[in-house]
Amino acid sequence: MAKQIAAANWKMNLTAQEGEQLINEILNSGVSLQPEQKVILAVPFPYLSMAIAKVSGQGGNIEIAAQNVSNKKQGAYTGEVSAIMLDSIGIKNCIVGHSERREMYGDTDAVIAEKVNLLLDHTITPIFCCGEKLEIRESGNENSFVTDQLVNGLFHLSADALQKVVIAYEPVWAIGTGKTASSLQAQEMHAVLRNAIAGKYGNDVAANITILYGGSVKADNAEELFSQADVDGGLVGGASLVAGDFIKIIKALKA
Ligand code: PEP
Repeated sequence: MAKQIAAANWKMNLTAQEGEQLINEILNSGVSLQPEQKVILAVPFPYLSMAIAKVSGQGGNIEIAAQNVSNKKQGAYTGEVSAIMLDSIGIKNCIVGHSERREMYGDTDAVIAEKVNLLLDHTITPIFCCGEKLEIRESGNENSFVTDQLVNGLFHLSADALQKVVIAYEPVWAIGTGKTASSLQAQEMHAVLRNAIAGKYGNDVAANITILYGGSVKADNAEELFSQADVDGGLVGGASLVAGDFIKIIKALKA
């Protein structure tokens, strides 16, 4: 069965002190995780080591993620951060293909596939984001659009490698807008993606892959979204910055 994950994406928010306090509040909340549940905190680069130090010794169900990685291995790329560097400080997860990076920093499917490969080379789990813009949903082409993102970004992988990836379906029209996909819309797209994986890699592989929903997940809608058969938790932006809200979202994970 796929692991159930509550993943926080802090984006470019919080000072180091605020971030440390937020992690303390989550750790001190006493929220307990089942063996098949996990919490991942995607924090800004400068806070990665601090965050790793804070969660180490917590039984391994709380992990830290980077929010991006370079598509280059190493060398003269000023300002970039490589998979080798992330690995060297103990990072186990990294977001790739977030719509903000696709939109504002030109991350194409090909660039994202390069990032996925470099992360997997360094045993870092890519959290692979995909999702359609509003005009694509309004034109009724969302299933083929998002399936193409999946195919272009991931389907070059072996079955073994694919099973190390976490997928996050994030409809762009729902990110940071307060407009959440209905649980039915989320379930429908997650089923489309799982079926596409099953078609290429088989049912067992498809069943093992965690597919998160992202897009205005809040404390009061998480349970309904996560209760859907193919929704294995969420990637959470805004609501992950408030300890009490994120803790409620963690508690909404399927057991
Ligand atoms: C995100 O940035 O991945 C996200 C889902 O943001 P929000 O929860 O704020 O919509």
